[in-house]
Amino acid sequence: MTTAARLENQLEFSASKTTAETALVPVLLPIALDQTYDYLPPPGGPPPPGAFVTVPFGNQTRIGLVWYALSGDGEKKKVDPKKLKAINEILDIPPLPLLSLRFAEWIAKYTLSPLGMVARMLMSAREVFEPSKPRFGVTIVPGAPLPPRMTPARQRALEIAADRLIRPKATLARAAECTTGVIDGLVTAGCLVEAAIPEKRCPLPDPAYQVVEFTDEQQQAVDALYSAADAGNFSVTLLDGVTGSGKTEVYFEAVARTLARGRQVLIMLPEIALTSQFLSRFEARFGCAPVEWHSAQTGSERGRLWKAAASGEARVIVGARSALFLPYPDLGLIVIDEEHDGGFKQDDRVNYQARDMAVVRARLGDCPVVLASATPSIESHVNARTGKYRHLVLPGRFSGTKLPEITAIDLRTEQPDKGRWLSPRLVDAMAETLARGQQSLLFLNRRGYAPLTLCRACGHRLECPQCTAWLVEHRFKNRLNCHHCGFSLPIPDKCQKCGEEGTMTACGPGVERVAEEVSERFPEARIALLSSDLIPSLTEMRQVIKQIESGDTDIIIGTQLVAKGHHFPNLNLVGIVDGDLGLAQGADPRAGERTFQLLHQVTGRAGREAIRGRAFIQTHLPEHPVMAAILSGDRDAFIDQEIKIRQAGMLPPYGRLAALIVSAKDKETAELIARDVAHRAPPAELIQVLGPAEAPIAVIRGRYRWRILVKAPREIDLQNYLRAWLSRVPPLKGDNRLAVDIDPDSFL
Ligand code: ADP
Ligand code: ZN
Repeated sequence: MTTAARLENQLEFSASKTTAETALVPVLLPIALDQTYDYLPPPGGPPPPGAFVTVPFGNQTRIGLVWYALSGDGEKKKVDPKKLKAINEILDIPPLPLLSLRFAEWIAKYTLSPLGMVARMLMSAREVFEPSKPRFGVTIVPGAPLPPRMTPARQRALEIAADRLIRPKATLARAAECTTGVIDGLVTAGCLVEAAIPEKRCPLPDPAYQVVEFTDEQQQAVDALYSAADAGNFSVTLLDGVTGSGKTEVYFEAVARTLARGRQVLIMLPEIALTSQFLSRFEARFGCAPVEWHSAQTGSERGRLWKAAASGEARVIVGARSALFLPYPDLGLIVIDEEHDGGFKQDDRVNYQARDMAVVRARLGDCPVVLASATPSIESHVNARTGKYRHLVLPGRFSGTKLPEITAIDLRTEQPDKGRWLSPRLVDAMAETLARGQQSLLFLNRRGYAPLTLCRACGHRLECPQCTAWLVEHRFKNRLNCHHCGFSLPIPDKCQKCGEEGTMTACGPGVERVAEEVSERFPEARIALLSSDLIPSLTEMRQVIKQIESGDTDIIIGTQLVAKGHHFPNLNLVGIVDGDLGLAQGADPRAGERTFQLLHQVTGRAGREAIRGRAFIQTHLPEHPVMAAILSGDRDAFIDQEIKIRQAGMLPPYGRLAALIVSAKDKETAELIARDVAHRAPPAELIQVLGPAEAPIAVIRGRYRWRILVKAPREIDLQNYLRAWLSRVPPLKGDNRLAVDIDPDSFL
């Protein structure tokens, strides 16, 4: 539907609703409730659905959304007619598209979250609701006589202002190397005048800005995407190709085609992959940067971009998962890059998988979706194999360089020296690489210096007082931190238990410890340590990445921050310090898949340009199926096997999973509630209720946790079953909690 048609629809809707029996206006508030409240319309008549209004609520005034139950089954709180209150005002913000409302209803129903909490995600930029204050600057008054008293500073300022731009006073002062007093003086003298700075506009990407020549294989994929984009209706395409095969280049064509049709595009990336590299490639292809949407933006910027998305001025939006909830009036394509990435699952308040919800959004809005990955999720593979998704494969790297040669280092026979973490073979390879002037990358998915600290005298281990977790030493900050709750204390110099001094010992490596070993072994090398706790912001992260790209670094040591989306042209060697990390997560059906994806992604960083790269994986389990698949490069065999396991175990996508997580302040209460909840499960032949069991991380932030896992065949409406079940559970008292996680990703 075009924007105009949609608008018409909305207007018609509001016109037909002005009859007496529908005179009340249902308003949804962004709080944890599933119902709307009725209000009397404001004097000017009832607002259209999706309009933002302010209403009295209790003794407060709140912003709500006009929300007629679009799918016909929303609940409504009946209000005593004598107590009815009127809507205060209709805010001067474009109403949300009906599609956004329908999407929110869908998510609420699917995730069993209160509709109000999903609506909250549609209202994520608070600044939208604040009146925009125009910013003022100064500009030259053409033809004004020069002030009687000219100084060199005044001269400089006037020369800069001669271009007639409107600049903030401070900006002009800085450029002219003078004080803002000088600028004020020029205003008084009538040479400069104050003026409102025009609002920033989103640049228009040009689909024809750069013409790319594709290889035959790429061209086939491009043609398939053209036809999907031109058809314009719902379809899902899995773009499956090794890193460096040109997936980005190829899906940019679908973006171009959609832009040419005048529709909006959303590109979703894991937050960490939003690198300057991606943005500059976009710019090279389309002549300007895309609109970015992520957590690092300032509030006022978010407000502006939200409105630009709503008006359609923002043509291409690149963002992490929350970008899915912007009020697009005419979304014509969604691309999800690194579709397998765990970062698309949100585990907070509304538990949703943004990749899956993007597919839902595309279905509701009838537009195509492209999922891109070098290591697609098993779910997407299955959908591709059954023909639900179109499968496009880019088999080789564009540069022609072969994938790196991957070798296992069996830690049982090739041990590092005592107190060291790098085996001799890996160290030799690093020395060679350094001598050739190329880069090495060491990967260890563990922040900090050491994962465990214990007392050599009495064996006491330092544990978080609020969580089931060891405290992790962060030597650079000289503290011990809990990675679950953020609890932190200075590294003690004596044992808290036996009182011995100098006996506290770090056990095992984190990236900081590996960095220490590397700087001892290669004192002349330039080292970069990439770990989320050491790099405070996306901006700084981009700087570090830039430095690495330009070759200012010899050895990179990093956590999974380095695994995603970067292209380091001079990187030739990858060493995986602990290949087994991640395989041991017993309850997690995706542990094997995840480890495979991560190892594949990281080893794939080596040798992306001219020379074939090398990768070494240090492991105790070289014969483990995941390791064997990585070493042999036989991805398809691995996927076949994973699919068989999923099928046999009725695991996703062959079965549906949901987790119920009970948490309480004390252990007995948590267990009691969990047992009671499990006991109330309605009998159902095909549904398995597993547990309750104490969660693997039994305590987080001082809250005791128990889990119930529910397993059902695909055909069963699991949500319906859960709703029936939950309606049998009496309301929990105090701050005892029961959370529902549909399609859980974490089993901890
Ligand atoms: P992927 O997204 O699959 O990792 P990219 O799209 O990043 O692959 O491509 C890898 C590199 O090869 C990039 O530097 C890209 O610009 C280049 N490249 C890929 N295809 C082409 C092409 N047809 N013409 C020119 N450069 C290409
Ligand atoms: Zn903790």
